[in-house]
Amino acid sequence: MSTLLKNAMLCHLNPIQVEHGDLLIEGEKIAKIGDLGAIAAGEVIDCGGAVVLPGLVNGHTHLYSALAVGMPPPASPPTTFLEILERIWWKLDVALDAETVELSARVGAIDAARCGTTTLIDHHASPSYIPGSLDLIENGLRSVGLRGVLCYETTDRHGVAGRKQGLHENRRFIEKCRQSKDHRFAGLVGAHASFTLEDETLNQLTLLAAELDSGIHIHVAEDSCDERACRKQHGLPLMDRLARFGILNPRNLLAHCIHLDDTAIQRINDSQPSLAHNPRSNMNNAVGYAPLAKIDRVNVPVQLGTDGIGEDLFAEAHAAWLKSRDGVAGLAPVDVIEMLNASSRLATRLLGTPIGLLHPDAAADVVVTDYNPHTPCTTENFAGHFLFGMSSRFVKHVFVGGRAVLRDREIVSGEVNSALVQDAARRLWQRL
Ligand SMILES: [Zn+2]
Repeated sequence: MSTLLKNAMLCHLNPIQVEHGDLLIEGEKIAKIGDLGAIAAGEVIDCGGAVVLPGLVNGHTHLYSALAVGMPPPASPPTTFLEILERIWWKLDVALDAETVELSARVGAIDAARCGTTTLIDHHASPSYIPGSLDLIENGLRSVGLRGVLCYETTDRHGVAGRKQGLHENRRFIEKCRQSKDHRFAGLVGAHASFTLEDETLNQLTLLAAELDSGIHIHVAEDSCDERACRKQHGLPLMDRLARFGILNPRNLLAHCIHLDDTAIQRINDSQPSLAHNPRSNMNNAVGYAPLAKIDRVNVPVQLGTDGIGEDLFAEAHAAWLKSRDGVAGLAPVDVIEMLNASSRLATRLLGTPIGLLHPDAAADVVVTDYNPHTPCTTENFAGHFLFGMSSRFVKHVFVGGRAVLRDREIVSGEVNSALVQDAARRLWQRL
């Protein structure tokens, strides 16, 4: 099967480069780009000069929150981050069962496909349904045709049995993905956050990641409570505790990293883990702003994630830009694009196929838009178009591994029956 995208404005993101031409997809890969003339292809799509992008990668998300849209608020409104967790998310995650884990992933995948997000780096929790939960998320993503880097959120919130099941689910899924050669799914070793992890658990997480030659995906300093709890319970700064258990290293992905003092920032800059920046979620939880201006973003990859507020990276990029302009960190527009590239590079490493590139031999994860700029669009100003002109409403067709997952804005496979999903969501909310 081959697809020829004709007459496109091909917009490379890594590095940014705008060129006019054609793109040929053969099988799961991009075969050729450039002025391809009248070559034969199974299908030809005339892009009408509109922007074509590589598929976007969500650098940190929680698909399990997909059925929380419109959920009734807790009787007593939370006033702190810890209360937000206790009264909302830790009530939701424990209410999830097999049906709603898979359905959340499928609903999230549909949202992602509509926004041109083709790979999701997910962090999952369903304490009442742990063994096999990552397979259900895989099923949900596969039904729509997307890729995923999944992990289970190991924590001590549910005792030794919960911890063991969490660790085992990570091991099982990573080993399973290694057997498969389709480059669609990979695993990381998931961990909640220092403040819900005992020393023994952190030790086991690190041992597991080392044994499997994998990385750890963990929340760090999302709220000041992480640092406070560490000093109170363990008598040392958060970064010292994380370093003691080998969490600060380039293989690991640290989400949020907001409450960092200068010493902590230096530890991050020296140890070079990947970070995930989630500006909309951070504003929603009123937890503050990550000190991006002080992060050595040349050596510390900073990924852009939605943290479960949908899967729309255009919207997240807009927020990242606006928040950075709101007096807190002087990012340039290209810095926001670079956050998307950082997610693509991690996905490339873990999935074992080039993601986020419009190059011959790269995975054919391609977003065809109907964004025809009204102003000149060049390599020099493309980031400005991405932030001020484009949005997910321009996403028209999406391919993942050469297969169409969105065609003329319609989901090709895995579409859900809204009435059935609403019924499942209603039952889920009743269990809260
Ligand atoms: Zn998160």
